Amino acid sequence: MREGIHPEYHQAKVTCNCGNEFVTGSTKKEIHVEICSKCHSFYTGQQKAAAARGAIDKFNRKYGLNQNN
Ligand SMILES: [Zn+2]
Repeated sequence: MREGIHPEYHQAKVTCNCGNEFVTGSTKKEIHVEICSKCHSFYTGQQKAAAARGAIDKFNRKYGLNQNN
């Protein structure tokens, strides 16, 4: 890729609120975002973990393994 063809196009450094940094093509040199693919997947993972905990609770109730019973 030769320089000067797209003079307003940069490798922009993107900084996220979660601390993650990555580089993407943009007309801006620096971008700040509140959420990125990294912390978005983190939130998704938390939701899956919560669903898994619910399934374990259901299992424990069904088979009487919950120590609180
Ligand atoms: Zn992030």
